[in-house]
Amino acid sequence: MNELDSAKIVLKKIKENGFLAYFVGGFVRDYIMGIDNNDIDITTNATKDDLQKIFDKVIPTGEKFEGVTIIYNDYKFEVTTFRTDLFYGDHRHPDVRIAKTLEEDLARRDFTINALACDEAFNIIDKYDGRKDIENKIIRAVGDSSKRFVEDALRIMRAFYFSAKLNFDIDSITLKGIDEASIYLENVSGERIYRELLKMFNTKYLLKGLKYMSSSKSILHLPSLKESTNILLKYHHKVDFIEYLALSFYLEGKTNRYKLSNKESKEIDNIIKLVDLPLNNLNIFNNELSTLEKANDIKYLLNKDYVVDVVSRKNNLVIKDLKELAINPNDIIELGYKGPLIKEKLNHALNLVLDKQVKNERNAILEKLKK
Ligand code: ATP
Ligand code: MG
Repeated sequence: MNELDSAKIVLKKIKENGFLAYFVGGFVRDYIMGIDNNDIDITTNATKDDLQKIFDKVIPTGEKFEGVTIIYNDYKFEVTTFRTDLFYGDHRHPDVRIAKTLEEDLARRDFTINALACDEAFNIIDKYDGRKDIENKIIRAVGDSSKRFVEDALRIMRAFYFSAKLNFDIDSITLKGIDEASIYLENVSGERIYRELLKMFNTKYLLKGLKYMSSSKSILHLPSLKESTNILLKYHHKVDFIEYLALSFYLEGKTNRYKLSNKESKEIDNIIKLVDLPLNNLNIFNNELSTLEKANDIKYLLNKDYVVDVVSRKNNLVIKDLKELAINPNDIIELGYKGPLIKEKLNHALNLVLDKQVKNERNAILEKLKK
C-alpha cells in the first residue's frame, strides 16, 4: 500500500475513534499545485494520549508541541493536536494551548497557502482564501501581518523560502509586516534561521527569495549576508549554501550566528583561505575538488584570478596523493636536512613534480634537491 493510501487509513482510524482529523499545511498546498510531497502532516483534536491508544507505533516528537510521529505501514506521519499559539513577552516562546476546532488551528498557521486542510476525499477547507493565493501565486500572512511576524520572526525567513520554492510573490501588506518585524529576527535562534536559509538554497527560484530578503529590512538583521546576497543578485548567479556562507564571511567577516557544525565551519575556512591564494598545482593538490570549485567560483564573482579548468587540472595532476611521490621524508633526512627543512624540501619536491619540472622518479628528485 502506498504512502497516501496509508495516510488515508490513519485519518479514518482517528475518526473511527470519535475524533476529527485532516491533512493539513504543505501537503495540501502541494496537492492543489500538483506537486509531489511525501511529507504528510495531519492535524486532529485527538491528544497524544488518545493517539497512543489508537496506534501501535507512536513516537512523541520533542520539538513540536503536542506532536507525534505515527508509523503506519512503515510510513511516517506527523500528527499534531489542534492548537493555538498565544504570544506575549519575548517573542520567542508562545504559550501553546490545545484548541477545540480546526479553525483555531488554521488561524495560527503562517501563510494562507499553508492554512489549508482537507479530508481523505480531498474536500478542501480553505478559511483564508489560500486557494486563490495559490492561483495568483501570492504569499500572504494569515491574519494581521504586523502581528504575525512579530510573534514569530522566523516566519520572515519562511516567506522568503516559500517565495523561492514556489516562485510566488509576497503580498505588499505582508512585506510591510516583514519590514516592521525585522528587528525581531535577532531573537530567533541561529539553528532555526540556519534551517530556513539552507532550505532556501535548495530551491529552484533561490534568487527570487534572495531578492525579497535583500530588499527588505530583514537583511540588516542577518549578519554578514548583505554584500554576498547583492553580488549573487547582481550576477544572477546561484551557489550552494556553503559557498554562500563562505562568500558572506569572506566579505563581511565570520559570525557564529548561523550555528554551523564544525565540519561546515572548517570547510568554509578552507574555501575562504583559498580565495586569496593562487590556484596553482600545489594548492589544487592540497584541497578537495568541491572546496576548489567553490573558492574558484567566489574568485570569479569577485573578479579575482579564477581558473577556467579547475576540474581537469585536479584530474590531470601528475600525482593525486603524497604517497605517490617517489621520495619520502627519510630520503630527505639522508641528504642531511633536519627539522623544519625536511617538510620544506618535501614540499619543494612535490611542487617540482606537480609542475613537471622533474619526473616523479626517486633519483631525479634527489638530484634536484641536492642543488
Ligand atoms: P515544506 O514543503 O517546505 O515542508 P511546509 O508547509 O510543509 O513546507 P513545514 O515547515 O513542514 O512547512 O511546516 C508545516 C506546516 O506547519 C506549515 O504548512 C504551516 O501550516 C505550519 N507552520 C510551520 N512553521 C510555522 C510557523 N513558524 N508559524 C506558523 N505556522 C507554521
Ligand atoms: Mg513540511
